[in-house]
Amino acid sequence: MTRIAMKTPLVEMDGDEMTRIMWQMIKERLLEPYIELKTEYFDLGLEHRNDTDDQVTVDAAEATRRLGVAVKCATITPNAARVEEYGLKQMWKSPNGTIRAMLDGTVFRAPIIVKGIEPSVRCWKRPITLARHAYGDVYRNAELRIDGPGTVELVYTAADGKETRALVHEFDGPGVVQGMHNLDRSIESFARTCFNYALDSGQDLWFASKDTISKTYDHRFKDIFADVFAAEYAQRFEEAGISFFYTLIDDAVARVMKSEGGFIWACKNYDGDVMSDMVSSAFGSLAMMTSVLVSPQGHFEYEAAHGTVQRHYYRHLKGEQTSTNSVATIFAWTGALRKRGELDDLPELMAFADRLERATLFTIEEGRMTGDLARITTIPDPVVLDTLGFIDAVAEKLAASE
Ligand code: NAP
Ligand code: MG
Repeated sequence: MTRIAMKTPLVEMDGDEMTRIMWQMIKERLLEPYIELKTEYFDLGLEHRNDTDDQVTVDAAEATRRLGVAVKCATITPNAARVEEYGLKQMWKSPNGTIRAMLDGTVFRAPIIVKGIEPSVRCWKRPITLARHAYGDVYRNAELRIDGPGTVELVYTAADGKETRALVHEFDGPGVVQGMHNLDRSIESFARTCFNYALDSGQDLWFASKDTISKTYDHRFKDIFADVFAAEYAQRFEEAGISFFYTLIDDAVARVMKSEGGFIWACKNYDGDVMSDMVSSAFGSLAMMTSVLVSPQGHFEYEAAHGTVQRHYYRHLKGEQTSTNSVATIFAWTGALRKRGELDDLPELMAFADRLERATLFTIEEGRMTGDLARITTIPDPVVLDTLGFIDAVAEKLAASE
């Protein structure tokens, strides 16, 4: 059997713990038998990040800017316990944070829908993709505790020294105050990335904020989305038969609950943080959630939405059986391979991505799955497989699907 050849390499970012183990298995059993896999490999495992003073993360992000498409394994974001555990030179920053800052991206998260794992919101039939603006607002704020009576003002000093002031509050007793910001530049690139993603995936785009209450701040978001849409996207949306819809955030929440899904929901930073956890848990499981970082220049980095599944890894190290779900990691690979196929005009590679996704979903629909899904499935008497057992079951289905 001839394997599918690739043109441009994928940027491959290896990672940590249980996901690192699944990474290897997925490549060996599901990809390499079918594809002459071409990757530029970067080991983002914590030990190698420490050995290279985290240069490897920067190199991997630069390679993504050069080659356009990356696939990333989950990685440890070190805390004090990890510094001790791995004897780290310092508490290295989150690789995802570093990569996101370098690519200036928006994160899109979408659930993987499969028969037998039913959303807890009964009317949801198609995935809801959540797009989170990953810059500013409350995540880059300044806060003060106010001890007693006094006045708080916002002061903007322009480069020429001219001051503009706004009264926040005249306190008559203790309280709290917060200042936050965002940038037109960042909001514009967020808007463009969302519009591009909607065109790319053929889905409607919703955006919501609280512009009735926040008449300057949130209103700026609303205006920028409207202006960018009118100037650059309105016609392309019409041609693609999709729409852009703006509403208030509370109205959006109510509508999402009554919708059938099948659209992209763009959220401001805080709304996206909260709503993505709600949407993913209502769809069933974090292990069935894909995540892709898209830059305004059209660079793509695919990954699973979950972490390194540390608890399972420690069991694995003790020689105990694990039943870790590899679906989101498999879909990170298929997402990256499909995108590479699309950019390099390799229909066979795109078709293979579809085939591997179908084989994965059929395996579950036939009742063979890992423990996390077996606990919530509506399929009677599911067969619970261990980590490798599930990947092997998918490999069997894949081989039979030729
Ligand atoms: P986690 O790895 O997402 O796992 C949390 C729990 O969720 C697991 O203990 C497991 O529950 C369940 N789970 C998650 N993924 C699963 C899967 N594929 N199959 C089955 N169950 C799954 O989060 P964490 O334990 O908080 O974090 C571990 C490490 O991952 C941390 O060092 C963190 O920094 C890192 N992290 C990385 C990323 C990333 O690279 N994108 C994202 C988040 C966290 P049970 O134990 O109950 O089975
Ligand atoms: Mg959160």
